[in-house]
Amino acid sequence: FSSPVTVTLTGAGGQIGYALLFRIASGQLLGPDVPVRLQLLEIPAGIAGAEGAALELEDGAFPLLDSVEVTDRAARAFNGTQMALLVGSRPRGPGMERADLLAANGAIFGPQGAAINEHAASDIRVVVVGNPANTNALIAQSHAPDVPRERFTALTRLDHNRALGQLAARLTVPVRDIDGVTIWGNHSASQYPDVSHATAGGTPVRDLVDEEWLTREFIPRVANRGAEIIEVRGSSSVGSAASATIDHVHDWVNGQRSRWTSVALPSDGSYGVPDGLVSSFPAESVDGQWRIVQGLELDEFSKSRIAASVAELATEREQVQGLGLL
Ligand code: NDP
Repeated sequence: FSSPVTVTLTGAGGQIGYALLFRIASGQLLGPDVPVRLQLLEIPAGIAGAEGAALELEDGAFPLLDSVEVTDRAARAFNGTQMALLVGSRPRGPGMERADLLAANGAIFGPQGAAINEHAASDIRVVVVGNPANTNALIAQSHAPDVPRERFTALTRLDHNRALGQLAARLTVPVRDIDGVTIWGNHSASQYPDVSHATAGGTPVRDLVDEEWLTREFIPRVANRGAEIIEVRGSSSVGSAASATIDHVHDWVNGQRSRWTSVALPSDGSYGVPDGLVSSFPAESVDGQWRIVQGLELDEFSKSRIAASVAELATEREQVQGLGLL
């Protein structure tokens, strides 16, 4: 990285943006010695929220924060950016069909991909948080032909962290003792949280929990945790989404602490996932690049669960192709 690092955040006036900004400014995104220049993108309706947050960032007197700029112009926001966090997206409104949602988000992520292609730094890396995150990442990536495609990722780290949390609670061990968990597929209820290769304190998780708990409680609870949080908290899981976004980028830049983590990135055909689909895989960060962990054995149950989620991603790709968004 050159110093300071230019970081772009879209949807900066929203809730996840608000939870992210202070952690970025304090050095938790890139590291405690890395100065940051923030470029915040919002639509006109969100500008006031982003400007208010920028005032608070000034009041935070963060030693690592060199500057904050708020804009509603993508060309400006992505100018020279090295790390883009694409959080702003169009939420599903009442009566909105999935195709409407995909079309609305295509209108956001297509132009953002093009702006990244044209204006970002050559070492640009992108993480998409705004839903439907995998397909939004695919749309953005397809509009940035000059950027190596593996630099476009979508967030499944929140699902990964949720899986770690559930296992730690069940086994009454600290989260740091658990390793080898994978989220496969789409960041949606079809995702497959896989513990086949997971260990707790070195012991295979499969030896510590029964099949019934895994299939009837663990998998659905992780996959539907977002709805559970909304029900209990009365609003969505903003803090944990921001926290997982920090983890994703931090590990991408600095390497992960565990054997691997979960990242949605364009498939190279690994594990039978069709080329180009932005699907979640086990991934390790090597020299600042995500590499899909190869050679994990998959049993029939895992294969069928992965295939089901990947089929959903393929359908989403067909839909956005049909809408002319790729
Ligand atoms: P949030 O900040 O709460 O959420 C932003 C996006 O993150 C949504 O798409 C949301 O998906 C997604 N998300 C991913 N994981 C999670 C999770 N675990 N919990 C909750 N959300 C998750 O939304 P706000 O409405 O508060 O803010 C969005 C901001 O984006 C607004 O200020 C809006 O103006 C802005 N925006 C900016 C754009 C731009 O910069 N060009 C374009 C469009 C909007 P889901 O909808 O499924 O909850």
